[in-house]
Amino acid sequence: MPFTSRDFEDLRKEVAQFAEERDWNQFHSPRNLLLALVGEVGEVAEIVRWQGDNDPAIPVGKEDDWADELADVLTLLIRLADRSGVDLTAAFTRKLAKARVKYPVDGFKGSNRKYNDPQAGT
Ligand SMILES: [Mg+2]
Repeated sequence: MPFTSRDFEDLRKEVAQFAEERDWNQFHSPRNLLLALVGEVGEVAEIVRWQGDNDPAIPVGKEDDWADELADVLTLLIRLADRSGVDLTAAFTRKLAKARVKYPVDGFKGSNRKYNDPQAGT
């Protein structure tokens, strides 16, 4: 699904303002934000917990909950990056470039092998 276009820097500023208005910077250490992020990932997992492998990815009627929890994950990831001095969009670009080198199309197309698997590229 295409995303509604928003600038990542705008998202960072909006989340930072949200925290600033509530005087929550005092609680937003990288450690605390990481733990909160892990908790939110758990909330995403909880939606599909106990689903069978052939069940729909998102249970019927839980679509909004799914989207809300993914948004919580994104919010905390942006906040964690901001509070720990990471330019998240630059890091994303750098990391995807590394992944392109590790996983060239030739050798990995249609394969779920890890790059350092001895069978990789065969
Ligand atoms: Mg949540």
